[in-house]
Amino acid sequence: MGQLPYGADLLESLTHIVQKENIRLGRISALGATTHAVVAYYDQDTKQYNPLEFKDGMEILNLHGNVSMRDGKPFVHIHILLGDAEGKVFGGHVMPGTKLFACEISIDEIGGEELARAHDERTGLYLWRTGYLA
Ligand code: ZN
Repeated sequence: MGQLPYGADLLESLTHIVQKENIRLGRISALGATTHAVVAYYDQDTKQYNPLEFKDGMEILNLHGNVSMRDGKPFVHIHILLGDAEGKVFGGHVMPGTKLFACEISIDEIGGEELARAHDERTGLYLWRTGYLA
């Protein structure tokens, strides 16, 4: 657990930490605030991420994500809920360019079989090749 510095890029910082600490499987949660946020909505028809930008300060009401392997390196996947000055909530898949005002994070390393991402033709996403639960 710890805090990320003012002005840090959220995705970049978390990626740096998990790669430096060699956390290969894990769970991430956080709260705090952003000065600028870029999140995306994945369009299932075009198979493209459509970015949404929030240029004002927003509260990080909830951040949830995971760590698994992609291209042989620990990879972070995070979704976020942001609240504005009126308490309205927006959210999406966190993209590069999300800058922090303050952020308290918790990363839980998980033991067990690693999950590796690979391109999935049907969805266009990089999904886990193993780990199907039925
Ligand atoms: Zn996502």
